[in-house]
Amino acid sequence: MTLQEKIDKLVRPEIRALNAYHVPAANNLIKLDAMENPWSWSAGLRTAWLEVLRSVEINRYPDPAARELQERMRVAMQVPDTADIILGNGSDELIQMITQTLAVPGRVVMAPDPTFVMYRQIATVANMGYVAVPLRTDFSLDEAAMLASIAEQQPAVIFLSYPNNPTGNLFAPGSLHKILSLAAGLVVIDEAYAPFTDASFLPEIDRYDNLLVLRTVSKMGLAGLRLGMLAGAPAWLEQINKTRLPYNISVINQVTGQFALAHRELFAAQAHEIRTQRAALMSGLQALQQLTVYPSEANFILFRTAPGRASGIFEGLKAAGILIKNLHGSNDALQDCLRVTVGLPEENAAFLEALRGLL
Ligand SMILES: *Cc1c(COP(=O)(O)O)cnc(C)c1O
Repeated sequence: MTLQEKIDKLVRPEIRALNAYHVPAANNLIKLDAMENPWSWSAGLRTAWLEVLRSVEINRYPDPAARELQERMRVAMQVPDTADIILGNGSDELIQMITQTLAVPGRVVMAPDPTFVMYRQIATVANMGYVAVPLRTDFSLDEAAMLASIAEQQPAVIFLSYPNNPTGNLFAPGSLHKILSLAAGLVVIDEAYAPFTDASFLPEIDRYDNLLVLRTVSKMGLAGLRLGMLAGAPAWLEQINKTRLPYNISVINQVTGQFALAHRELFAAQAHEIRTQRAALMSGLQALQQLTVYPSEANFILFRTAPGRASGIFEGLKAAGILIKNLHGSNDALQDCLRVTVGLPEENAAFLEALRGLL
């Protein structure tokens, strides 16, 4: 048997059909593609952090429950006292744990479409079905379609990105309350962009026994750390926690997370500044007129170019040294769409200037 024949025989067909998550190289480009916080740490903060790392006992296993970091996360994220939390190596890992807890072939994961691509990827790897319910053309949630699809498919879990990636908008909270009331399965509200909006379902955890809320420190300024949080009723989390690999939060992540959260006022100030810059970038895009610009409660803005222009504009920006995200071709609803992350004021200005020249 050739190697390829062995692979074809052994690897699950749904894995062979997948494409690995692709991240383009950004060498020396202004990086406005991945919803990262544009500020790095000051020299003083770096020195203080390295001082903390000096005392790490790297030969020992970390605290498997990361209790000290859990306490800091609870405070930083304002988790209700009645909820439990689980930490993950990024919130991606928590999405995987939730899915694995429920995975039975034939069961369904549901989400609106377009949304965060990892929901489908993780459901597929877990051997579950995936039902994508189209958003309306303005990317608002189609409440009637969601409710009908829930009644028909009885999903084990529904993922709702709030605000939604890659569209940037918040779904109507009334629709989410209806879904929470009517769905028999779990409803996970993924609040990866919480630092950039005032909306949250975290305070509602007591009200619904099927609600779980996801948070991450990635978009707030620690994307390199890999640290996410799942909050929900203790009885659910007790089950989900059984799918967690021991020591999933390394000792370096634990002490660095604790250190960073002790300085969380810095990230709060940066999130505030990003919200101000988002408004400026939004006006700048709207002033260009040839674009359809979608409202955003996140740290990125989705916009649509004239038909057939998105890929050319994307490449033109890249040639000018600016990397954004080309969504054209990724989803029928995202024809001619590009997504730009809010960066430093001078990066946003360079982006707008280059874009103006390309239109
Ligand atoms: C970026 C993003 C995540 C992933 O967060 P990590 O904590 O970095 O794994 C999860 N959900 C949504 C909607 C995102 O946009």
